[in-house]
Amino acid sequence: LSLLSRPLSALPPTERVVLLVYQDVSTLKAAETLKDQFISLATHELRTPVTIIAGYADRLLGRSARGGEYGLNEWQREKVQEMKQASWQLTSLTEDLLDVTRIQAGEFKLELRSVDLVALTERVVRRIQATTDRHQLAFHTTLSQLWATVDAIRIEQVFSNLLSNAIKYSPDGGPIEVILEEHAETHEARFRVRDQGMGIPHAQQVHLFERFVRGENVRASGIRGTGLGLYLCRELIERHGGQIAFESEEDVGSTFFFSLPCIRAVQ
Ligand code: ADP
Repeated sequence: LSLLSRPLSALPPTERVVLLVYQDVSTLKAAETLKDQFISLATHELRTPVTIIAGYADRLLGRSARGGEYGLNEWQREKVQEMKQASWQLTSLTEDLLDVTRIQAGEFKLELRSVDLVALTERVVRRIQATTDRHQLAFHTTLSQLWATVDAIRIEQVFSNLLSNAIKYSPDGGPIEVILEEHAETHEARFRVRDQGMGIPHAQQVHLFERFVRGENVRASGIRGTGLGLYLCRELIERHGGQIAFESEEDVGSTFFFSLPCIRAVQ
């Protein structure tokens, strides 16, 4: 039940109406629950076969128990390498889906400890730079350390999502910057991740942090994705007591901002 009304006193007597809108949402809720249960079941069932495929692909590319190679020819090596790549994509999809189902079921927990955000950011930027030759990643900060109580793996996951999006949605290459500042009055670490890529159409901006929402432009250009990454980023940042937002202009670029409560900075 929703009651839409403006204060009656604000309306002239002839227009004093109250609009009541009733909508039965029980069928919708049941369908939503069924969908969540299906995602959870399918994800758990996918996990084992994907791990087996990834594991064997890895072994075929490595050395046998006797220390020799498996004798794959060049074509076979290339195909097994593609299999490995594809199985890692599936692993990351199942991990994202598992996180979503844990969040929906209220079973999601953070492992908090004291972490230097400067070192964490340097590490993650270096790791993601190694995945691309066409983009130049840069990390700017005047701080030498910035300590916060966070789940380091989850904050790395946020960076991975934002930086791999910046790469994926800048298909012509280009610079990607990560900027970190301390906001001393509010004891916050403030991050910006900026690209000069395709940008996000205005029509999708309002719902972008919801599950499965993707920009029309990226769908039209056939760039693959699930629309789960930003949903997870927002959940993770908000669970740390921070906030996430973005500014974007189509064909100009995007900047994602997020904040995290921090303890102390070292200049
Ligand atoms: P995915 O990338 O798997 O589609 P995300 O939840 O990470 O899912 O992102 C949702 C959508 O937001 C993307 O499909 C894309 O339309 C848009 N988006 C996110 N980051 C960027 C970016 N840096 N540049 C342009 N569009 C972006």
